[in-house]
Amino acid sequence: MPPKRASTGATSSSKKARSSAATDKAEDASAPALPRDPRWAPVSGSANADMHYKTTMRSNPAPYSFQLMCQPPFDGGFVGQDEEEDEDEEEESSCDGGKTCLCTKPAAEHPDHPWKFSVAGRAKYFLQHVHCDLRDPDNFSMYTFNDHMAYGVLEVIQNLFLDYQQAADNFREQWAVCEALGLLMAGGRGMEMTMIDAGEQCEATLVLIGRLFLSMLARLERENLLSANSEILNLGALMGIYLIPSQFDMEFEGLRKETLGPKTDKKSWHPHEFASHIVAYARKYDIKLVVPPDVEDIVSEAKTDVHLPVPESNTGPKADPFGFGKALKTYSTKYGGVSRFLSKRSKAGTTPIGGDALDITTWTPAERKKFNFDGKDPFGREEIAALKRGDMLGISQG
Ligand SMILES: [Zn+2]
Repeated sequence: MPPKRASTGATSSSKKARSSAATDKAEDASAPALPRDPRWAPVSGSANADMHYKTTMRSNPAPYSFQLMCQPPFDGGFVGQDEEEDEDEEEESSCDGGKTCLCTKPAAEHPDHPWKFSVAGRAKYFLQHVHCDLRDPDNFSMYTFNDHMAYGVLEVIQNLFLDYQQAADNFREQWAVCEALGLLMAGGRGMEMTMIDAGEQCEATLVLIGRLFLSMLARLERENLLSANSEILNLGALMGIYLIPSQFDMEFEGLRKETLGPKTDKKSWHPHEFASHIVAYARKYDIKLVVPPDVEDIVSEAKTDVHLPVPESNTGPKADPFGFGKALKTYSTKYGGVSRFLSKRSKAGTTPIGGDALDITTWTPAERKKFNFDGKDPFGREEIAALKRGDMLGISQG
């Protein structure tokens, strides 16, 4: 499949995306340039996709308003959902990206519809597919090393950890990151990460995802935004979605009980039991979980005696009762990022997390030729020029 400029929308054609890129540029001309994140290589499809998100959200008058989504945005239903249900879903599917379906309509038009996402969260989620595609050698007729794509998905997830942390002073942006990460895991694409040959890192990543989301809920609690009629319109849907990563068959060995901050509250928790804590928040605030199929058991089996942090003890700007910041540091030191040099058996834990080392667009033409089935660079001159210009390059899924 030749690389094409793709769009962030699920259904737009690459032709359409090309013109929308030109429109973005015109809008950006008047605004100051956004700083380039140092995590990206000098030429990088990931960097371009990230910048595309930031500039389009900056020019959007209401990036954190909620829109309807006609159905969860996964071709195959929720990960773990049984196949028969998948087939039914496909037959019923009539999503055309908002032309006739509910997608992108204001949430207020159908207050009872369960699937609503923020404009930013939806955009960020679709962008994660671009990021994953750029890290899949199959898309470029290349073979590099076993599990390149699975490690690539891990790299994408790690970037979302960094995005969440960088948005610390904008909790609505943090919620958008949670939406993107939750959907990525629930739709199965994120779970491709579990194919890596490093079970412990996989588990640590899943637990960190749960911890990230709990730190978000604690923040929303402090903002008085946890309630049945919160202005965060998809609380119940996202809380249901985050139960999914807890379902995976993991040992979760060696994870110790931790203090649920601050120490003086004498509360504690087990990070791998994050699902029980999500359910506990739902119970505490009477939030109706929109429960994906096969997850109801998690809700009924959730421990009822788990602790939740005391909001009054966590009022400072640095409050982090579930210890996400510290855990991210530990995770980064212990496991580090993934790098292309995995093919040469270098050790994990020696590179920063996230970034774009497994994004094929960051490799040199010589490197790409070396791993390409026909010994050619899968990118032509025009595509390389587009990458250097900052255009978003994705894979046409048509
Ligand atoms: Zn739709």
